[in-house]
Amino acid sequence: MFNLKTLCLISTFLFCSTFYANARPEWFVPPPLDPSGVELETVKLHDGVFALMSNTPFADNSGFVVGDDAVLVVDAHFTGNMGKQIIDAVKKITDLPIKYLVNLNAFGDHVFGNYVFPESTEIIAHEKTIDFLKKNSLQKRKEIISVTVGGSTELFRDVVDRLPTESFKKKKKLNLGNKIVELYYFGPGMSPSDTVVYVPDARAAWTGNLIFGKGSIPWARSEIVSDYLKSMKNFQRKIDPKIIVAGHGKISDGDIVEKYISYLDYVLEFSRSLKKENISIEEYVKTLNIPPEYLIEDDIKELMAGFHKWNVLNSYKQVKTSAPQLKDRKNLGQKVDRDGKVVK
Ligand SMILES: [Zn+2]
Repeated sequence: MFNLKTLCLISTFLFCSTFYANARPEWFVPPPLDPSGVELETVKLHDGVFALMSNTPFADNSGFVVGDDAVLVVDAHFTGNMGKQIIDAVKKITDLPIKYLVNLNAFGDHVFGNYVFPESTEIIAHEKTIDFLKKNSLQKRKEIISVTVGGSTELFRDVVDRLPTESFKKKKKLNLGNKIVELYYFGPGMSPSDTVVYVPDARAAWTGNLIFGKGSIPWARSEIVSDYLKSMKNFQRKIDPKIIVAGHGKISDGDIVEKYISYLDYVLEFSRSLKKENISIEEYVKTLNIPPEYLIEDDIKELMAGFHKWNVLNSYKQVKTSAPQLKDRKNLGQKVDRDGKVVK
């Protein structure tokens, strides 16, 4: 028989599948990831450490790390053309070979550019990313991600499938020649296999979809909200970045980790309090606002508002009405209103 967690996973999957089909609620804005016309700006973060920042609010960012012997690239972007833009950006800085390419998750916007990298480049991803890529055809993956580019797969017509060949489970350390790069898996977050690339000497981290850019909140797209919270706490225990290059959005400082933890904790508690009142959640979420303490950048306000409604709705379907687990919370049991304020 299914245990509760399995049932939750199945319901989450069905919920997400519905959202990606025709029944998407009017308040949900798909992330705008169209790479047409996107230019990547090279931003030096530290010696040998470079972010490649997209010039639109949410199209994919990338980056690369240069050691004495070799280069590591983070994410391959959405199309062959974007992958080539990354390769050209590396060539402007160094002639060293791109030895490694890391895919931070299994979504097309992070892996479709893989095929333009040299054959000698070793592509690395978390084992669950590779599992997903193997189990789902390229066509199916194009359809899943097409919602972020207006619904058509035409943009990816030239994409040739190239899968990572090297996997890791929890942590992997690579040496590029006097330059250490670490790959981490902290647990499920936005997706089942969100990977983080960390450069200890720069205290810089690439976080893919696990942490979006400055002034964002998380999006619990396909995973259990309480698991996402656990993964973020694990992140905080293991690494302490001062610079975060998100897969989407602006560069931020390390404080965003605490913000994500606080926000996910809030969503869990808020959805528990709603569940106790047994309200009609689909109607209720339409009226929700992001609590003002979670500051949102102006150019992603509408997108984040949709993520917030999704998170609360998703969490509501996952939480139990029994006693909350976080017994040490100071405002435990207090009623929280739709703007996140405690009701006296
Ligand atoms: Zn992404």
